[in-house]
Amino acid sequence: MSTAPKADILLQVAMRAEAQPIIDRESLQSLGAVAPHCPAQAFTNTVAGRNVVLVAHGADPLHNCDRIGPIGAATTCAAALARFTPRLIVNIGTCGGFRSRGGAIADLHLPQRLAFHDQRVPIPGFREFARGEFQTPPAEALRAELGALGGLCSSGGSLDATPQDRAILDELEARCKDMEAAAIAFSARDWGVPLLVLKCVTDLVDHPEAVQDAFLRNFHGATVQLANATSVLLRSNNLPW
Ligand code: SAH
Repeated sequence: MSTAPKADILLQVAMRAEAQPIIDRESLQSLGAVAPHCPAQAFTNTVAGRNVVLVAHGADPLHNCDRIGPIGAATTCAAALARFTPRLIVNIGTCGGFRSRGGAIADLHLPQRLAFHDQRVPIPGFREFARGEFQTPPAEALRAELGALGGLCSSGGSLDATPQDRAILDELEARCKDMEAAAIAFSARDWGVPLLVLKCVTDLVDHPEAVQDAFLRNFHGATVQLANATSVLLRSNNLPW
């Protein structure tokens, strides 16, 4: 492994196809694996005088697909925090939206709050731990600069949503549903590193069309939009640090 740079900004992206437009646009160079025995891949460049490192979760060695989801998110984040000790983490990715709360395909979100909708432990003390509610740092000026919406992003281990998940997503008034953000917050909290979450809507959770069909149709456009927004964010004077 090459010598570790310390990052100003750590970008964490679950899927390689989400990361590639950012890697191309910012001419990020490969650093190889984030850590031994960890499939996550790191890329780096200096952008506007800032040392930027992007980590993609990498391919699962057994199943040969991207390590999407909360487990890959927390393990990747912990390894990247230990190696790169960033000042700021930004989780970038696609998400589901909610038309019942005014959501539409291609909406960009920079949520103020994060939670889990599929971790349920009805025992005192553990309920709040499992729900994992987390506040992102104030970033109103950045939200305006990016043209992004606010609200709550809820994470879970599944692309679909059971009726109970849906009830909790409604109770939380979630505006984004993803599989990583609240898990990254879990690791970021241990290190006291501020976390921002930038998501683009590929599908609508409360629409009759199957989530995976809308996801696949809208995925490419969302990744281009995320790369454009990331480019603005990396050069912004409105970062919360
Ligand atoms: N089926 C996809 C696999 C990835 S889908 C494929 O074949 O390529 C899930 C990824 O997109 C996760 O990283 C998640 O964070 C995000 N995502 C997009 N829409 C989502 C939704 N409605 N619910 C949960 N995660 C969603």
